[in-house]
Amino acid sequence: MSPTLLGVTDEFDVIVIGGGPAGATTAGLLSKYGHRVLVLERERFPRYHIGESLIPGVMVPMEELGLTERMEAKGFERKYGGTLVWGNNEVPWNFSFTTGGKIPYAYHTRRADLDTLILDRARELGALVIEDATVKDPIVEDDGRVTGIRYTLRGLDGVREARASLVIDASGQARVLGRKLTEVTWNDQLRNVAVWTYYDNCHRLPGDEWSNILIEGTQHGWFWAIPLDKGVFSVGYVTRSDVASGSDKSLEDLFESEITQTGKLQDILKDATQAAGYRSARDWSYTNERFHGNGWVLVGDAAAFVDPLFSTGVALATLAGSTLSKVVDQILKNPEIEEKALDRYSSAYQDFFHDIRSFVEGFYDRSKTKGYYFNLAQDINDPEKKNDAQVDFVKLISGLSGRAGGLFDLDLSDLITNTATTED
Ligand SMILES: Cc1cc2nc3c(=O)[nH]c(=O)nc-3n(C[C@H](O)[C@H](O)[C@H](O)COP(=O)(O)OP(=O)(O)OC[C@H]3O[C@@H](n4cnc5c(N)ncnc54)[C@H](O)[C@@H]3O)c2cc1C
Repeated sequence: MSPTLLGVTDEFDVIVIGGGPAGATTAGLLSKYGHRVLVLERERFPRYHIGESLIPGVMVPMEELGLTERMEAKGFERKYGGTLVWGNNEVPWNFSFTTGGKIPYAYHTRRADLDTLILDRARELGALVIEDATVKDPIVEDDGRVTGIRYTLRGLDGVREARASLVIDASGQARVLGRKLTEVTWNDQLRNVAVWTYYDNCHRLPGDEWSNILIEGTQHGWFWAIPLDKGVFSVGYVTRSDVASGSDKSLEDLFESEITQTGKLQDILKDATQAAGYRSARDWSYTNERFHGNGWVLVGDAAAFVDPLFSTGVALATLAGSTLSKVVDQILKNPEIEEKALDRYSSAYQDFFHDIRSFVEGFYDRSKTKGYYFNLAQDINDPEKKNDAQVDFVKLISGLSGRAGGLFDLDLSDLITNTATTED
């Protein structure tokens, strides 16, 4: 028998693979609801991660975790909106989160800080978090049910086992369970690559745009500029993979030549100095065919990933984690509803994801005006045109849009009642 953590079989209600925003949110809330949760995280936090600009939807799960005051106290930069050099408008245009309603701001943050804050909170709420722990495989029984995982601990010999009623994969793009238990569909329209670095001594955008994210299109791609702290900006360039591979320039050289085409971004950087080397990542959107199966379920990038054009990743991951924690809480109390409850979670999540991805796909057509993009958002999340189209646009890119309300408002009571009636 494989060695376990404690020398005996380790049994939990839930095992969460990965302690990023999706895993830590799910684990923290499940612990708060009184369940025994094990989180296995491959790295030791704080660890670097890209994804530094947040949208207001993230504030819903952060409030549930009791973290909003700590985010403010940490000095994260408040983000009230965005400035876009995009489409065929002659001048840059802005959006403000206040137009979208109830949550007027989010934050820009170094992910090492944010992710540590959430993972520490999961610990504080009662989750057992083990870092330097790499999950290798699911334990699959003869009937196909996943009942646990096998993992290794950095610096120690042997493969260990842990078991639980349910295994949640929040391992991000590693897709530890997804790659073994389901198929992935890659989105060829959003097959991109990103290269980024950091600058010191940057100028801010003027006036009300002070803390906006800047998104500036160029001939072959687009740049982000995110104000982090003390004059430091994160600056990244995204282009299609075929453009990058068809060019005789390296990604870094492409970054440097394309940046000369920008206007607003060059204003920000005119007295700045590059303060870090370049990093790059594949930025290819995908979705897993199934988000759950017998004894397992996916959340965050482990389930689906969409291009970062609107900084939706962390909000999607944590909103889905919040929803999943409530669904799993009900499943642990009423195990017979597992399949139907996870079906509902998956459909709501896929709908939410689909809305955002459709919008991002449409937004990549840069031949249009901002009015077109507003109407596109309205067609997706408010087809009856109850709101002004600009409001629909901001709601969608805030992660707080119409159909998406279902993601964090799943009612499972009919499943529980029906089962009770049948048993009677
Ligand atoms: C270029 C780029 C720019 C982006 N910009 C933004 C942005 O501005 N705003 C935004 O919101 N999002 C952005 N994103 C997306 C964002 O980074 C992700 O959506 C977000 O990190 C998802 O959180 P997660 O918890 O699902 O996954 P992750 O944050 O990736 O966490 C997964 C965790 O699982 C751990 N893990 C992996 N394998 C194992 C294993 N075998 N065993 C144990 N642990 C494991 C990892 O170490 C990691 O800590 C960007 C993405 C890219 C590629």
